Amino acid sequence: MTANFLDNKFVHSQTSSWIDLQDPATNNLVTRVPQSTDAELNASVASAQKAFPAWKATSLLHRQQIMFKFVALIRQHWDRLAASITLEQGKTFADAKGDVLRGLQVAETACGITTQLTGEVLEVAKDMETRNYREPLGVVAAICPFNFPAMIPLWSIPIATITGNTLILKPSERDPGAAMILAELAREAGYPDGVINIVHGSAKTVDFIIDEPAIKAISFVGSNKAGEYIYTRGSANGKRVQANLGAKNHAAVLPDCDKNHALNAIAGAAFGAAGQRCMALSAVVTVGGTEQWLPELAEKAKALNVNGGFEEGADLGPLISPQSRERIEGIIATAEQEGATILLDGRGYIPEKYPNGNWIGPTIITNVKPHMTCYTQEIFGPVLVCLSTETMSEAIDLINTNEYGNGVSIFTRSGSSATRFQKDVEAGQVGINVPIPVPLPMFSFTGNKKSVAGGGANTFYGKSGINFYTQTKTVTSLWRGEDAVEGKAGVNMPTQN
Ligand code: NAD
Repeated sequence: MTANFLDNKFVHSQTSSWIDLQDPATNNLVTRVPQSTDAELNASVASAQKAFPAWKATSLLHRQQIMFKFVALIRQHWDRLAASITLEQGKTFADAKGDVLRGLQVAETACGITTQLTGEVLEVAKDMETRNYREPLGVVAAICPFNFPAMIPLWSIPIATITGNTLILKPSERDPGAAMILAELAREAGYPDGVINIVHGSAKTVDFIIDEPAIKAISFVGSNKAGEYIYTRGSANGKRVQANLGAKNHAAVLPDCDKNHALNAIAGAAFGAAGQRCMALSAVVTVGGTEQWLPELAEKAKALNVNGGFEEGADLGPLISPQSRERIEGIIATAEQEGATILLDGRGYIPEKYPNGNWIGPTIITNVKPHMTCYTQEIFGPVLVCLSTETMSEAIDLINTNEYGNGVSIFTRSGSSATRFQKDVEAGQVGINVPIPVPLPMFSFTGNKKSVAGGGANTFYGKSGINFYTQTKTVTSLWRGEDAVEGKAGVNMPTQN
């Protein structure tokens, strides 16, 4: 049974409603995740509220020391975290280690908070100065998706807490194990009681977080369906909301590119993690005849080893659930019905040792047109859809017409083509010969269009992440000798500089 984490203690849930969590490679039961009860949800808020004043007053250097220890412990427990991810989420162990590392890097960057949180000060008039401070918001919450069980909780835990907030985190009910290990490590690192609480469940817990007045901000990563709802209702309740949503990431392949590099990069980025990455390259636009290379791409995809995530040499694991497999098989079927060509069909693939897993092998659909279901929907599986254009301008128009705008990449040797593409394309993250251009945490995860709620104003980590978790207070002060005080009250706005 998975426990709640309340006030630095693992607390068995009193719920009568449990969610079965199955290993995606076998569908064997791994654990049961509670739908945390109202009393447990309220207890998490009470704990976080109680902890806030003392945590806010804790010196930044002390919080930084805790972060140093947290970082060291995550490194020490790296394999354990990765193993939990492979068991519950299904991705390969090597890929799960990357999941941990990309989150760890956010925590490592947060260790530099002592220089990141400095304010501004200016003497604005004689004897008068204005300075600003960044103060914590209070109790904040994070709602996480299934596909990065360590990385995405770590987009919130380090920055929310080192800036002085207390946090209630709801991991995905499909794979909360890594978040529970992180809670244990946070306690060992010295986080005081109540600074980090973890509750579980699905929509009911989310509604609680949205409506609880004590929670000042919500960090959400997940699908458009859930995220647009959370953004709208959370904002209506007066909360700050940052929400990263779905995607359809395109790669434009120009004839002058390094073919082998491009095809390897695309195969890795389309099928790695079984395509269950928000930055997976799920659409290729072959430009100026490069569609001739697609059979070679299919050979590379066919060579990938689809297997249980703990197996030596596995390149991609299973899908998260039988429902996800069925949904994706249904989308592949619509592509056939709507006139596309299935160049490589991964349906029906079953690794010998894992007959009961949620498998689809790499699938490539060609002759895709923009109106087709396989193009308009986010598939979130190991399925690559391929469209063609004559020119790069047409490719840019095609990509810009798509409603999602998370990531995009171009493969070319031409600096001028790359520069034009970079300027004209509408996507938050652009890769030039880089298939998954997710910025490291000194930058921010910058989505665009429908891939991010609220126009992308509140992006995760980087400067924007620190802004999200802090309130700016600006103080203007006047200190001068008593002999300088005027005799009469001034009532007008100043008209002189
Ligand atoms: P999801 O939206 O189903 O679940 C995310 C969270 O929302 C979970 O904690 C879940 O419990 C909750 N939730 C689900 N349905 C809800 C509902 N109806 N009401 C309230 N809460 C609900 O997403 P997922 O399947 O876990 O993750 C995959 C999705 O996340 C994909 O669309 C992917 O593109 C997206 N994603 C985006 C990014 C990004 O940075 N843009 C990163 C990772 C994943």
